[in-house]
Amino acid sequence: MFITRFAPSPTGPLHLGHAFSAMLAHDMARAANGTFLLRIDDLDQSRSRPEWEAQIFDDLTWLGLSWPAPVLRQSTRLSHYRDALKTLWNQGFLYPCSCSRSDIRAAAAAPQEGAPLNGPDGVIYPGTCRPDTPPKGAMPQDTALRLDISRACKTLSSPLTYKEKDDIITPRNLPATVGDVVLARRDMGASYHLSVVLDDADQQTTHVIRGQDLRDATQIHVLLQRLLGLPTPAYHHHRLIRDDHDKRLAKRDDARAIATYRAEGASPQDIRKIVGL
Ligand code: GLU
Repeated sequence: MFITRFAPSPTGPLHLGHAFSAMLAHDMARAANGTFLLRIDDLDQSRSRPEWEAQIFDDLTWLGLSWPAPVLRQSTRLSHYRDALKTLWNQGFLYPCSCSRSDIRAAAAAPQEGAPLNGPDGVIYPGTCRPDTPPKGAMPQDTALRLDISRACKTLSSPLTYKEKDDIITPRNLPATVGDVVLARRDMGASYHLSVVLDDADQQTTHVIRGQDLRDATQIHVLLQRLLGLPTPAYHHHRLIRDDHDKRLAKRDDARAIATYRAEGASPQDIRKIVGL
């Protein structure tokens, strides 16, 4: 069985990097006689726009991709995310955090801390709000919740592993390299890490194909799968499409938007050539 997905956030135009990721996943699904799913990662409702979503559908169809309906939208799944958070809360793995980004930067930059280290979500959380014992009572609403990663890792009875191509990867020392990541954002009720793990499990994703910029995040996802009793898919982290200055393409790079290439008369075949497929 081979089920993969492309999960764009409708917060900007689809650019060359997205097109590469989507076409690669689509090609790999086809080669394996499997299924390619489209998922709309619109958890961040403040930045998601229906017009970007419509453009994503249109660009992907133009590129020759197809996927089964209905398309899963994260914005419809908040109660699932909440249920998983409650499971983790009841196991004593979560704690509320009220730190702002600048609080975290200041605490991590304090002289006794040494140079601040970066993890998949930026500066590694210095632990300001982490309690010594798991908080008691009902899970609080309207606050960010962090994963006590040391506590979680201590409960593992065997090492975390996942498959990447023919290799078995064993993420190690997550407390030092990842830190206490946010699993529920105050404004969104969940975070990317939690939602992507639950969605991939519910969609029975067997192969996650995405950019190598997310390789470090994969260790968090594998840990969450273990804590929530979910299967771990195989991962394929692909090269990133870079601009002429060797910088990673960002959503705001409208010059690289598929819509721009289309307006200039490019064909889907041209796009495949440009990204090296
Ligand atoms: N919405 C995420 C992104 O666009 C999906 C990443 C993933 O494939 O897990 O980066």
